[in-house]
Amino acid sequence: MGKRLPEVESFDSPKRNPQPRLSRHFPGARSSRPPPAIQILARTQGLTGSALPTGSDPVPMAPTPTPTHTAAAVALAAHDSSGHLAPLTITRRSTGDDDVAIKILYCGMCHSDLHSIKNEWHNATYPMVPGHEIAGVVTEVGKNVTSFKAGDRVGVGCMVNSCQSCGSCDEDFENSCRAVIFTYNSVDRDGTVTYGGYSSSVVVHERFVVRFPDAMPLDRGAPLLCAGITVYSPMKYHGLNVPGKHVGVMGLGGLGHVAVKFAKAFGAKVTVISTSPGKKQEALDRLGADAFVVSKDAEEMKAAASTMDGIINTVSANLTLAPYMGLLKPNGKMIMVGLPTKPLEIPPFDLIIGNKTLAGSCIGGMRDTQEMINVAAKHGVTTDIELVAADYVNTAMERLAKADVRYRFVIDIGNTLKNSE
Ligand SMILES: [Zn+2]
Ligand SMILES: [Zn+2]
Repeated sequence: MGKRLPEVESFDSPKRNPQPRLSRHFPGARSSRPPPAIQILARTQGLTGSALPTGSDPVPMAPTPTPTHTAAAVALAAHDSSGHLAPLTITRRSTGDDDVAIKILYCGMCHSDLHSIKNEWHNATYPMVPGHEIAGVVTEVGKNVTSFKAGDRVGVGCMVNSCQSCGSCDEDFENSCRAVIFTYNSVDRDGTVTYGGYSSSVVVHERFVVRFPDAMPLDRGAPLLCAGITVYSPMKYHGLNVPGKHVGVMGLGGLGHVAVKFAKAFGAKVTVISTSPGKKQEALDRLGADAFVVSKDAEEMKAAASTMDGIINTVSANLTLAPYMGLLKPNGKMIMVGLPTKPLEIPPFDLIIGNKTLAGSCIGGMRDTQEMINVAAKHGVTTDIELVAADYVNTAMERLAKADVRYRFVIDIGNTLKNSE
């Protein structure tokens, strides 16, 4: 397989809120900084080195942030921007009236985890426990919880709470709530910094818990909670989830391969657009795409011009968009879910001629996330994963940085992340 485009993840720019760019959908970016006392606690809890404890080394203990954080959990945490993860014992809040406590069995490794732990979005609070593609089993529910019970198979995606009262929340677009609380590196309502799914348990408000249908495996389903909803939602809201549409998918990584599967499930004709000819066979044979266009091949691009109703652009590399806009039919739409680092450059002519739309999309609300996983289960859509042990996580991060994974690492939390007593 040829070199992949850098995979981009999910994220992160809400559809409705005119927030400063960096404070968009990245984990914790929009939340205010934690109170100084909490920052100091985080910095002084004694873990500055990045070496993995070995053998009989004790797993360090993060400070208990509030009296209500009573349940110990073992986690993999970044302690600085080196990108290195090491075991850390954390505490989770006791199960509140509206909460669901979950024993985590699997957690996907999203590219945004890598950006976050390396502080590439300049918003990191350490120690940081990444992970927002969480799947596991309910262990306890609060007294107001009616939708879940102990033993249920569930998941948690990129958000763990929101204001639950604004216009966006009322319309089930919690992803656009200005007070959204992300699953990690975000400030929770009790002032603590949220810890993600690279850990043995989590406690989450029931609104932000997704039920896994019986047919959906926990390991291959976990990444859908980020990668799946990220591509499902724009296809739904831009009218590409209809049989007969021609959908282009730019980039064949964690997001792109799921986009191909959903578009096929919707009955679309799917064309993968990639810089790598080496991905053609995989796209067609394994993922079921109908066609493949090598974007560097002028003849192939010309042959595909003006044929697509929409393009899901998952690429995070800085590209000139004009040639890709040329693949769209009149009134066609390109929806960006990848995050190039540089501002977009697009000649207005390439938008205006043919009435094209260039749009962005950021994960999705909780109602749509449940709908997405139900649709995925019905059509057999899952992510292609490489299941790894907890002690492989640093190697996996290095490979993730090189896009050397087909297509998602998932940590086998339940079997391999253990307390070391
Ligand atoms: Zn993600
Ligand atoms: Zn809200």
